[in-house]
Amino acid sequence: ICPEVQEEIDEFMASFRKLDLHYKIVSKTGEGTFSSVYKAIDLRYDNYINEWDLDERTAEYYSPRSKRQRLNQAKEKKVKYVAIKKIYVTSSPQRIHNELELLKDLTGSKNVVSLITAFRHLDQVIAVMPYFRHVDFRDYFKKLSISEIQLYMRSLFTALKFVHAKNILHRDIKPTNFLYDCAKSRGVLVDFGLAEREENEGVCPCTRARGAPPKPVAPVGGYPKNDQRPSKRANRAGTRGFRAPEVLFKCARQTTKIDIWSAGVILLTFLSKRFPFFNSPDDIDAIIEMATVFGRAKMRACAALHGATFETGIPTISEKGHSLSRIVEWATSRTKGDPLSSEEKRALVFLEKTLDLDHRKRLSATEALNDPFLTIIGP
Ligand code: ADP
Ligand code: MG
Repeated sequence: ICPEVQEEIDEFMASFRKLDLHYKIVSKTGEGTFSSVYKAIDLRYDNYINEWDLDERTAEYYSPRSKRQRLNQAKEKKVKYVAIKKIYVTSSPQRIHNELELLKDLTGSKNVVSLITAFRHLDQVIAVMPYFRHVDFRDYFKKLSISEIQLYMRSLFTALKFVHAKNILHRDIKPTNFLYDCAKSRGVLVDFGLAEREENEGVCPCTRARGAPPKPVAPVGGYPKNDQRPSKRANRAGTRGFRAPEVLFKCARQTTKIDIWSAGVILLTFLSKRFPFFNSPDDIDAIIEMATVFGRAKMRACAALHGATFETGIPTISEKGHSLSRIVEWATSRTKGDPLSSEEKRALVFLEKTLDLDHRKRLSATEALNDPFLTIIGP
């Protein structure tokens, strides 16, 4: 550990009363927008091992060795690592409460992180979860074969099926929130900091609530002036590049399908070998990026679904857009001698169904898991 991180860990341990009785931090494993996450040994588990190891019946197995050796061996085998998420004190109490409460509801899937316990000392809250060994996405996203990508996506959609069945939207599906162990082909979904419960099912109220569909306001040399239309507000929490079109168009009733879109963006990243694939800092630019791929016609239809209009004067945005196959061919510089393989084509057929601009037609997690691409793994 570098001295700065060690100092940070020492400071944290000293500031949190009695935490060192329970855990010994060994390293810092991650840092997000709202937290720092540390890898730690669960000392209570360790104590449990001490007692267990002194048990006479167990000791028989190790009779030729000293007690010290026995203890060390037991510890090595049984040491339990946890991830301690230190949620920044600047997060609102409601936000922290929401994250912990949802985590508590989400126990029971091997692809979704579970909460072991949580502590508060003064204004500081920490969540303790099992530690998952994983590889940094940037180290493997260009290397995975199609069958490995299938296993990754199966793991991710299994997590989403579980979460969505509880009517919870994750809202922040992206590689850093899905910890993947390539060796074991297993992934675990983490970070429910932005997650929320889905509002009652029903039609998207975007168009209905606002009466007559909005009259298009022609963009005469820039943004329309004196725009009389009421402004829209909607939850747009998430990460740039992974937001679904209905989030960008400020749909008031977003569904679990926003997570499917983000999972599709991850698949597009694998196939195009470009990360991040979409990268616009603001929503308008993100809509433009999307339009560059999908074309004006589909963007207009999607906007209308959410009571919005889509108009642009940018000449590079074509009416019909491009197929995702073409996008992947361009991104990976294919030539006639190096065409897309049949496995890649199968992946692209599936990709089209997860990246449907119309959330109603987009696959659900259950449908994705029943799709041939995720049921028949391998060529
Ligand atoms: P944030 O809300 O700040 O994004 P996350 O819950 O996403 O926090 O955690 C940040 C990072 O910490 C993750 O991207 C990951 O690298 C690491 N991390 C989180 N939970 C675990 C865990 N259970 N096991 C191992 N590493 C974890
Ligand atoms: Mg995160």
